[in-house]
Amino acid sequence: MDCIFCKIVAGEIPSTKVYEDDTVLAFKDLNPTAPVHILVIPKTHIASAADIDESNSAVIAHIFEVAAVIAKEQGLDDGFRIVNNCGELGGQTVKHLHFHLLGGRKFDWPAG
Ligand code: 5GP
Ligand code: ZN
Repeated sequence: MDCIFCKIVAGEIPSTKVYEDDTVLAFKDLNPTAPVHILVIPKTHIASAADIDESNSAVIAHIFEVAAVIAKEQGLDDGFRIVNNCGELGGQTVKHLHFHLLGGRKFDWPAG
């Protein structure tokens, strides 16, 4: 499958890893939009948030546990933002489910 995040999981494309276990990988975004910009992904290929169902949702819960640990490690004690872009209108560019963990600055709401 021609998926850049599967290739990152497989080690075929280099990345700056910040966390890894059996089911989840977290690595720095190539084009950060905040002082802390980390992508947290399931190692298994799930195309988008629209493809989460009861067969694969356990890893999503685990992703949020991992994100909380990483946020503490990164010193984001005053808050952070977790973003998922889903599908074309949601602005998803990489078709492997990922959550952006953003921190180190103030974020506007509503997002544009
Ligand atoms: P999306 O727009 O799909 O929510 O986010 C995709 C993110 O993946 C973007 O923030 C982009 O900078 C990041 N990205 C795309 N290709 C690579 C890559 O090869 N390595 C890393 N570390 N990040 C990437
Ligand atoms: Zn993939």
